[in-house]
Amino acid sequence: MRISDVVFPRRCAGCRDGPWPFCDGCRAELLALQPPWCERCGRPLVVEAQACRDCPDQPLTSARAAFRFEGPARSAIHRLKYAGWQDVGPALARAMATVTPAPGARDARALTWVPLARTRLAARGYDQARVLARGLGREIDLPATRLLRRTVSTGPQARRSGAERRAALRGAFVAAGPSPPVVLLVDDVLTTGATAAACARALMGAGAREVHLIAATRAFRGPLRSPSAGRPMPRRTERRFPPSERRAYTRAGSRPGLWLPEDLPR
Ligand SMILES: [Zn+2]
Ligand SMILES: [Zn+2]
Repeated sequence: MRISDVVFPRRCAGCRDGPWPFCDGCRAELLALQPPWCERCGRPLVVEAQACRDCPDQPLTSARAAFRFEGPARSAIHRLKYAGWQDVGPALARAMATVTPAPGARDARALTWVPLARTRLAARGYDQARVLARGLGREIDLPATRLLRRTVSTGPQARRSGAERRAALRGAFVAAGPSPPVVLLVDDVLTTGATAAACARALMGAGAREVHLIAATRAFRGPLRSPSAGRPMPRRTERRFPPSERRAYTRAGSRPGLWLPEDLPR
């Protein structure tokens, strides 16, 4: 990788060849998570349901993610996390801003992120979830504020069982101060939701009533059986989501959620 790639990563975040942020070919492979889905966690389902077997742990109130953690979306997250492509954050945040929120999430008046452990922050130089949160904050006119601190590095969670994850995460997050009642929590990848649930527990201990996760991507174990599970992004037409009569996280007076991938994020 050249230095100029780090400073000006203006090529496709999926294949690194086409135009920024996703070329037509990669756009066609982005799998947008859409209804019908689980109302609580946004997992695509054949028919709408209030909860599902993949729902994240309590006390997280709800979860949503823009894309399946596969193909170009997975590449984009890897570039954001490991290759210094910070501009991928605002690009993905545009898509996050257009996902139909869970009931109650529109009432959020605070936006925060799952903080990175100090050691990894020092190695990477920035916190990718914070980059996503700041991008989302610009989209929905809600500034990202630090509400959580990470006390210990928990290491990779992917291969741990549910009980092991919860044990590893016990006390991993503490509230940075009093928490507002309804909080939007941002992360890059939603897997089981154990990390987000640990964050929710800390925020609720500090006064939050509801904590709604919005992630850039979501990883699923095994195939999804649903009409919407693998719906590619349209090749040419823009996805306008939600429809104009429904607002996403946007508050009164702010811009409607509209992701224009051709736009250069600032
Ligand atoms: Zn591409
Ligand atoms: Zn669910």
